[in-house]
Amino acid sequence: MQTKIQLNDYQIPRRWYNVMADMPNPPQPVLHPQTLQPVCPDDLRPIFPMALIEQEVSSERWIDIPEEVLKAYQLWRPAPMLRAHRLEAALKTPAKIYYKYEGVSPAGSHKPNTAIPQSYYNQQAGIKRLATETGAGQWGSSIAFANSLFGLETTVYMVKVSYEQKPYRKNLMQVWGANVIPSPSTLTQVGKKILEADPESPGSLGIAISEAVEDAATHGDTNYALGSVLNHVCLHQTVIGLEAIIQLEMVDDYPDVIFGACGGGSNFAGIAFPFIRDKINGKEIRLVAVEPASCPTLTKGQYAFDYGDTAKLTPVSKMYTLGHDFVPPGIHAGGLRYHGDSALVSQLYHEGLIEAVAYPQNACFEAALLFARNEGIVPAPESSHAVKGAVDAAIEAREAGEEKTILFCLSGHGHFDMSAYDAYLSGGLEDYEYPAAKIEQSLANLPKIDA
Ligand SMILES: *Cc1c(COP(=O)(O)O)cnc(C)c1O
Repeated sequence: MQTKIQLNDYQIPRRWYNVMADMPNPPQPVLHPQTLQPVCPDDLRPIFPMALIEQEVSSERWIDIPEEVLKAYQLWRPAPMLRAHRLEAALKTPAKIYYKYEGVSPAGSHKPNTAIPQSYYNQQAGIKRLATETGAGQWGSSIAFANSLFGLETTVYMVKVSYEQKPYRKNLMQVWGANVIPSPSTLTQVGKKILEADPESPGSLGIAISEAVEDAATHGDTNYALGSVLNHVCLHQTVIGLEAIIQLEMVDDYPDVIFGACGGGSNFAGIAFPFIRDKINGKEIRLVAVEPASCPTLTKGQYAFDYGDTAKLTPVSKMYTLGHDFVPPGIHAGGLRYHGDSALVSQLYHEGLIEAVAYPQNACFEAALLFARNEGIVPAPESSHAVKGAVDAAIEAREAGEEKTILFCLSGHGHFDMSAYDAYLSGGLEDYEYPAAKIEQSLANLPKIDA
C-alpha cells in the first residue's frame, strides 16, 4: 500500500505548460487603465521585465524553465504526492484520494513556484528591488525568500490589519531580508490619499497593490511582482500539475476530478491546466475551483472587464469579478480574499471547461480538522477549501457506490495560521452571509467598455 509517490530531482519538469496554446478561443485583450485600449508591451515595461511580459502574451505551448530557476526549485521540488489512505478509511469511501502537497516549500505554500522565476528574470534584467503587496503574508514571504536567493531587495506593502494580526509572517519576511511596510502608508501618493480620507483604514489587498505598483512605476531600478492572477504566474505554477501527471502514471492512475482552492486562481491553474489539455482533447475529467462563500468570485461574480486594484492603476482585464472596490469580509483564508480572478481561469470557466463551488469557512475548517487528524498535515485555511471539495466528492462517491479517483492540491500548511484554528476550535468563527448588497454596489462601478 503505497502512501508517498516521490519523484527524483531530475524529474522536475524542464518546461512550463502554457494553456493559451490549447484554449478553444484566444484570450481576451488586456486594456490600459486610463485609455481602456488594448495595452502594448511597452505599457508594462515600467513595472515588469520583458521576459515576463513575453510570457504573459505567449502562445507557445511549452516554455523552457531556466537552469538557475531549476536549481532553486531543487531546494524543495519535486513536491510529494500522497495517497490519503487514512482519510479514505475515515470517510468509508470507495474513492481514491490523492493530494499534491505544496507546503514543503520554504515559505510553506505553492507561491515560491512563481516567486523564484519572477525574481530571476528581474535580476537578469538588471533590476535591484521588487515592490509587492501581501495580505496574509504568504506572497510577501515567498518573494522575500526568492529575492534572498537572487540578491534583490524586497519592499512588501502588507495590508495593515494583517501586519498587526500576523507578526510571525512579518518576521519571516524580515528573516529573508524584506522591508515590510503596513499599508496604507505615507510612502506613496495613493497611501497618503487614503489615510487623509480615513486615518484608521485597515487596508485591503486592492490598496496594497496600488501602493506597490506606484512604488515600482516611480523608481527606475524597481519592478513590481504579483503572486497570482496574471498569465505568467499561472504558467509558472504548472510545475504542480506536470509533476502530478508523472506521479499518477507511476501508480497507474488518472483523476476523475481535481480540486484546487481559488483566490486569484494560480494554484488551481497550476494543478488543473496540465490536465485541461486532455479535457480539450475529449477526456472525461472534472476540474473544480473552490472558493469562499464570502468572496464568491466565480460562482456569484460577473464576467466583465475590471481593474485589478482599488486605485485603478493596474490594467483592466476580462475576468469574473465582484468589483474592484469590493472589500470582502475578514475570513481567515486571507489568500482567497481577492475581488477578481485569473483571466485564463475566468475564460475557461465561462466556456464550461472548469467548474466552481463555494463553501463557508466553518465547513472548510471542519474538513481541515478531519484531514489533520487522519493525514497529519495541518492545512492552510486557504487549502482547507480544496480539502472540503475532495471530502465532499469522496462522500458523494460513497453514496453512489463509485470508485472515483480524486486529486486535490494541498497548497500550503497552516503553521502560521494557528490563530484561525484557535478561533475555530473555540467556536468563535463566523460564517459571513453572502454580501449581496455590497457586491451589487461595487459591480455598479465596473469600467464601461463597449464590446
Ligand atoms: C495564496 C494562497 C492561495 C490562493 O491563491 P491562488 O492564487 O488562488 O493560488 C491558496 N493557498 C495558499 C496556501 C495560499 O498561500
